[in-house]
Amino acid sequence: MEIENQNIQISIVVPLFNEEESIGELTDWISKVCTENNFNYEIIMVDDGSTDKSWKKVEELMISNNKIKGISFRRNYGKSAALNVAFEAVKGDVVITMDADLQDSPDEIPELFQMVKEEGFDIVSGWKKKRYDPITKTIPTKLYNATTRRVSGIKLHDMNCGLKAYKKEVVKSIEVYGEMHRYIPVIAKWAGFNKIGEKVVQHQERKYGKTKFGLERFLFGFLDLFSITFIGRFGKRPMHFFGTIGSLMFAIGFCFALWIGIDKLFIDKTGTLIASRPSFYIALTCMILGVQMFLAGFLGEMLARNSPNRNIYLIKAKTANLDD
Ligand code: UDP
Ligand code: MG
Repeated sequence: MEIENQNIQISIVVPLFNEEESIGELTDWISKVCTENNFNYEIIMVDDGSTDKSWKKVEELMISNNKIKGISFRRNYGKSAALNVAFEAVKGDVVITMDADLQDSPDEIPELFQMVKEEGFDIVSGWKKKRYDPITKTIPTKLYNATTRRVSGIKLHDMNCGLKAYKKEVVKSIEVYGEMHRYIPVIAKWAGFNKIGEKVVQHQERKYGKTKFGLERFLFGFLDLFSITFIGRFGKRPMHFFGTIGSLMFAIGFCFALWIGIDKLFIDKTGTLIASRPSFYIALTCMILGVQMFLAGFLGEMLARNSPNRNIYLIKAKTANLDD
């Protein structure tokens, strides 16, 4: 068993939440494809706090197929959490994630494996070019993908495709938290993994059950995009962000205040009250906002300085003559 665990080529990760009808069919199909291609593989099923018989089903399947391994959450934490614990557990050189609802096809596994192993991609993301989803989902998805492409600079057509393949090193280096599974390529890019590819994949209509995400996915998705870009760019130097805006605001306010002062003292002799001039309010607001921004920057710096991963840098290689 030990030796078998060491030479695993592919780890297939399946997050599942109330998918009892489909997991048997899915694991059979994955096993068939992997056996035909002579892969040494493992399937890691993460039950994300299902309330149906999913976990029981996983335990049953394990008895007849020892490639299947399972983790079960006590409650529903979300797809990101499920992926994160699976990424900690995987042993394979190539890691392939796949939804449990049979919308993604296991027939794509050999080619995805090939692209990571032979062509050297860090990540290969599936692209559901022809989708079988309701129109209420496909249209907002297009908008979401276009925005993500612009903001992140990663040219993927289908950022949030559940079917993706990774080099082991990638999943061991990144942390997927909150709802960040939508942006794994962005997280990986910030971690320094640049060879990100795409493969057109087959997509099916959901056969059993229903989708686990509603329309709120788009709002949350955009908010997450902001957070992730901010953390990636300024996470280690928050003052550069808040300080820049703060200085700018303060400078604008200060110019207005200076102008009001000069005008009152030397130019305008009609005796208009300073407080009745619009520029007075602009000056006041800008200066207060500027100071607030500075304070936010200082607080950010203090948090960053005390954060446990402030000095964690991913090291790609070291020369052999360096001591460990
Ligand atoms: N999923 C999960 N936890 C959740 C929601 C979803 O593990 O809280 C799993 C779900 O079981 C499925 C995958 O994530 O395997 C994708 O979910 P779904 O098919 O509902 O999303 P859609 O295809 O509609 O984007
Ligand atoms: Mg689905």
